[in-house]
Amino acid sequence: DHDVITVENLWVRYPLSRGLFGRVYLYAVNGVSFSVQPGETLGLIGESGSGKTTLGRAVLKLIEINEGKIFWGNIDVTKMKESKLRHLRRYFQLIQQDPYGALDPRMSVYEAVAEGLRVHKLVKSREEEEEIVYKALAQVKLTPPETFASKMPDELSGGQRQRVVIARALVLKPKFIVADEPISMLDASTRGQILEILDNARKENNLSILFITHDIAIASYISNRIMVLYSGKVVEMASSEEIIKNPMHPYTQALIEAIPRPDPNAKVPEPKIKGEVVPLLDKPKGCVFYNRCPFAMPICKEKEPELKEIKSGHYVACHLY
Ligand code: SF4
Repeated sequence: DHDVITVENLWVRYPLSRGLFGRVYLYAVNGVSFSVQPGETLGLIGESGSGKTTLGRAVLKLIEINEGKIFWGNIDVTKMKESKLRHLRRYFQLIQQDPYGALDPRMSVYEAVAEGLRVHKLVKSREEEEEIVYKALAQVKLTPPETFASKMPDELSGGQRQRVVIARALVLKPKFIVADEPISMLDASTRGQILEILDNARKENNLSILFITHDIAIASYISNRIMVLYSGKVVEMASSEEIIKNPMHPYTQALIEAIPRPDPNAKVPEPKIKGEVVPLLDKPKGCVFYNRCPFAMPICKEKEPELKEIKSGHYVACHLY
């Protein structure tokens, strides 16, 4: 069985402006490789500006990539035209942070969930459609489904809207979901339920998830493995347990030290680490974390550390190892 997603040496850069010496680019994703296995949740962590949202969208072919390869299953989709991708898209879904913007305010919950079934011609009759939609609403715990089906988005809370968004994705029987900060705009009281719904869907359908978050505590709760992104580079990757118990990269160590002490009602803050992410306007030369690293050495400025397997399944890009 092959991996659901394979990404090889992916680069994404954005044109910023035309400067004196030609175009200026922001290097957002810089040579990233990873794979996601069937039934696995891979956590992707980083601060704002780390390139994590760009990476999630690039994997789904929602933005242009500059270099590298993307495989959906064993299909190389890197250069595939949208017209050819269209019939594959239902298997590769995005769940975004903002459940308010994601739903058409003029569409009932029923219509929102049924829309994809119709577009992809997955149902033959109204009865079959109803059965699938109601089952999906029950799966995301919008019960009784008959009551929720006729509601409009403005009658729903943020958490309920996000459940509709998830139901809408799940009826298409996806193989892979990019969940980009899916709970960070929601109340603390509903966050756990949304995580549970996603995790149950993963188990029941052997679904693979790329779970993007700035919160390493949430990432470690939901993910099998965690990938830490800094300035568009993977600086560390390991099982969640290993990342929490034995963080090796100075940036990951700082992220873990910044985990707020348990207060279940507190809003999850962005981690506070000294210094700032410097936007990369060229390919990285030395270590991307150099200007903030308490252990920086002369070599770190000159030579880019490669991502190396230091222990079985534990990859780190740092000259300390
Ligand atoms: Fe710090 Fe050097 Fe390691 Fe980069 S390579 S994280 S600067 S010690």
